[in-house]
Amino acid sequence: MTAIKPLVAGNWKMNGLGSALSELVSLRQMLAEKPVPEADVMVCPPATLLSRAAEILAGSKIALGAQDCHPLPSGAHTGDISAEMLADAGATAVIVGHSERRIDHGESDALVQAKALAAYRAGLTAIICIGETEAQHRDGATLDVLKRQIQGSVPGEARAADTVIAYEPVWAIGSGLTPTPADVERLHTAIRENLNHLLGETEGRAMRILYGGSVKPANAAELLFVANVNGALVGGASLKASDFYQILSTYCGPNAT
Ligand code: PEP
Repeated sequence: MTAIKPLVAGNWKMNGLGSALSELVSLRQMLAEKPVPEADVMVCPPATLLSRAAEILAGSKIALGAQDCHPLPSGAHTGDISAEMLADAGATAVIVGHSERRIDHGESDALVQAKALAAYRAGLTAIICIGETEAQHRDGATLDVLKRQIQGSVPGEARAADTVIAYEPVWAIGSGLTPTPADVERLHTAIRENLNHLLGETEGRAMRILYGGSVKPANAAELLFVANVNGALVGGASLKASDFYQILSTYCGPNAT
């Protein structure tokens, strides 16, 4: 089986005015000077910056993603943005089911699945987030939660070419806490088994599973080379091009095989 090329994606969340686009200019420059061909890279700025980001990144190897979409292509949904609109603005991927949307906006697995299908309809890659809360972690319910979220959120027609799974323990997001590498390996392996079961081994074994939650330059090496970890979804540390580039360049560092 061919190895999965890792992906490092930056989720800017609700951060960044026009002035923050200088970070994309810097990132592009850093990658032009010292490319990291071992991994793919993506930045997901807020929707307000997508068109301008697309202009800055045109012709570079940095992909552009969005952070959420509505399941429908258009209609009377004030304030929402469809997957087609994101594609029109220059995005090639969209995050769906981030825990901040599941929690802040009460998004169900069924809605997340509908958003993933909307992404495919618009020709976008769906980055489907799953992860247990702190209480579920404490109660030993993590494996059950992940299984339920995969079954409910990942469409049966998901393919490795158009879908990325991001495992993000909610208690690790923005907290500075991370699971041990052994736990990350155990959980990513369980996610892989669930994907194999849902989608068949050809797709399940080829699908990227990113780890997300307090990834930083200082801990990237211990988290990114764990079995069944195929990259990272990075929040806070993606806001500064130098930090984000350092995480990405872990793939050409001493731990790289
Ligand atoms: C995220 O919310 O996707 C994330 C991984 O955040 P952070 O890296 O800041 O923990």
